[in-house]
Amino acid sequence: MSLKGKTAVVTGSNSGIGLGIAWELARAGADVVLNSFTDTDEDHALAQKIAGETGVTARYIKADMSKGDECRALIEQAGACDILVNNAGIQHVAPINEFPSDKWDAIIAINLNSAFHTTAAALPMMRKAGWGRVVNIASAHGLTASPYKSAYVAAKHGIVGMTKVVALETAQEPITANAICPGYVLTPLVEAQIPDTMKEYDMSREDVIKNIMLQRQPSKEFATVEQLGGTCVFLCSDAAAQITGTTISVDGGWTAL
Ligand code: NAD
Repeated sequence: MSLKGKTAVVTGSNSGIGLGIAWELARAGADVVLNSFTDTDEDHALAQKIAGETGVTARYIKADMSKGDECRALIEQAGACDILVNNAGIQHVAPINEFPSDKWDAIIAINLNSAFHTTAAALPMMRKAGWGRVVNIASAHGLTASPYKSAYVAAKHGIVGMTKVVALETAQEPITANAICPGYVLTPLVEAQIPDTMKEYDMSREDVIKNIMLQRQPSKEFATVEQLGGTCVFLCSDAAAQITGTTISVDGGWTAL
């Protein structure tokens, strides 16, 4: 499967799943645009490393996905967007009656609203190019819920719903829109949840991983960023041309329970 000649924009890709997806798309031949809200030498070095090792063109573009105009500017600056991966996301864990309003707003803005803005900006480019793939990184929490994650669960259910609408609006075009729903993947986002969850449940780190995080993941293994990248490459392949408006779970059986 070669994605040579295609340009992929992956939001929130200087770390974790987004970076893993950018690597796999580049290994499949796509030019990639990395993104986050920072603008450091390390950010640009990530793009250089991908370009150096895979031979594709890789760039890093700073844009804050909590701001609608910057989401749209990212797509404009990319200049082309055949593959749009809406991956940027944050998390906050607290009971709903104690959930800070600013955290709620930030989660909805970054995890949900950003995908609206980038998709709105990218679809005209995909239509002009006559081909497109929208891949939204939702979550098992886009299909089910856990306590203390009200904003995250709301945003992820929202992005699953938006995925279906984009698929219907593009159904008769060579464009697909799907959501990948990962279970737990050991990335910085998950690492950051461990201390709060330890506090909420009064548990050790080991017990949080085993009894809380992987408790609902029947495989008892974290999914990997490479597996998510491979799933994304598959959704970009010709074999997946009739897969649209749906979710693919990469969750070790979590949502089969
Ligand atoms: P991560 O913290 O490693 O990566 C998040 C990325 O988003 C980073 O690159 C970060 O810089 C970027 N980001 C955060 N705020 C941003 C902003 N305002 N503007 C631009 N970029 C911003 O986390 P991750 O685990 O790799 O998560 C990536 C996606 O996968 C998220 O949408 C998350 O909800 C989803 N997800 C993760 C897991 C998991 O277990 N790790 C499970 C299901 C879904």
